[in-house]
Amino acid sequence: MLRVAVIGAGIAGLACAARLAAAGCRVDVFEKSRGTGGRLATRRDHGTGFDLGAQYFTARDPAFVAQVDAWRAAGAVARWDVQPHVIDATGRLLPSPDDTPRWVGTPSMTAIAQQLLGRQIVLCTGTRIESVSRGAHRWSLHAAEHLVFDGFDVLVVAAPAPQAAPLLVASPVLHALATGAVMESCWAVVVGYDEPSGIRLDAAFARGQPVSWLARNSGKPGRAMMPETWVLHAAPGWSEEHLEAPADAVARHLHRWFAQVVAPQAPEPAWLAAHRWRFARTGHAVVDASAYDEALQLGVCGDWCSGGRVEGAWLSGHALAARILAAQLPRNFVQ
Ligand SMILES: Cc1cc2nc3c(=O)[nH]c(=O)nc-3n(C[C@H](O)[C@H](O)[C@H](O)COP(=O)(O)OP(=O)(O)OC[C@H]3O[C@@H](n4cnc5c(N)ncnc54)[C@H](O)[C@@H]3O)c2cc1C
Repeated sequence: MLRVAVIGAGIAGLACAARLAAAGCRVDVFEKSRGTGGRLATRRDHGTGFDLGAQYFTARDPAFVAQVDAWRAAGAVARWDVQPHVIDATGRLLPSPDDTPRWVGTPSMTAIAQQLLGRQIVLCTGTRIESVSRGAHRWSLHAAEHLVFDGFDVLVVAAPAPQAAPLLVASPVLHALATGAVMESCWAVVVGYDEPSGIRLDAAFARGQPVSWLARNSGKPGRAMMPETWVLHAAPGWSEEHLEAPADAVARHLHRWFAQVVAPQAPEPAWLAAHRWRFARTGHAVVDASAYDEALQLGVCGDWCSGGRVEGAWLSGHALAARILAAQLPRNFVQ
């Protein structure tokens, strides 16, 4: 049985792990955080949960559409029928209806990760892989306190590009791909109200403002309506400029903007929280969905390989699993 180690339990790593496990591989997933989902993140605070990272996702590729249909049938996703507004550079709020189907995990974004984690996958959370090494034919993974996990035929690195790069030094081509990828940062702020805010919109994209996106988190399907929570995402330029600012100062600044432009009549919020995503988003694909070094049995996947976003990450992990499986077939069976 092929033994595969996957570093990173975001949607790319889990999509790859799920497809490999379904094909009969023994898959171990290592994740540095306490939970799974990566940037499909739900945080619990002040007695409620909110989506700090990806806000929703779209599905265009037929394979991903089929996957979303399966999640929907299992009750793990629902369509978010929201009509976002646009806030222009002068602060004007304009309706901007579209017919894009938007999907969210239910009751939270992390429901998707739970769907991908089958019983055949061994999950090891709270384990940051600090380095990897390859003996004659097998990979070993090294974590803190001299912990070593070894005996893997194949290694999959499914971390954001800057975190993947140090784990890819064995393959100069894969290492160069990861160091060449550009990822933008993002400050996320949550505004919590104890009483209804009276704000008369549900979501907005903003242009030429410190904030680029805002949404009523408590209005998404499957979320508690109260306490009312709003998630604001700072624009990439603003986030970069204030990357090292204290979280509470960022929360106050972005809330002040929100109160002036969107919520002048709203009561004072009961609480604010801020989270910094150092590697939030990537612009364009650096490779064709995923990359695999067959000689080393080392692969990479993630949104940065596949145009960014949730759909790109899933497609990337799914494609890498197919490449790994194809590489196991005797050469004359591979189309
Ligand atoms: C603020 C924000 C808003 C977004 N909005 C949207 C949106 O509205 N729509 C959309 O489609 N996409 C959105 N995205 C992008 C989307 O979340 C990502 O494209 C997608 O979730 C990336 O998945 P991934 O598996 O490639 O990476 P990740 O989710 O980052 O998963 C990688 C995992 O690897 C782990 N890891 C890293 N290094 C190590 C290590 N050394 N050892 C062990 N584990 C490690 C990390 O902890 C992480 O869990 C947003 C992202 C952010 C941050």
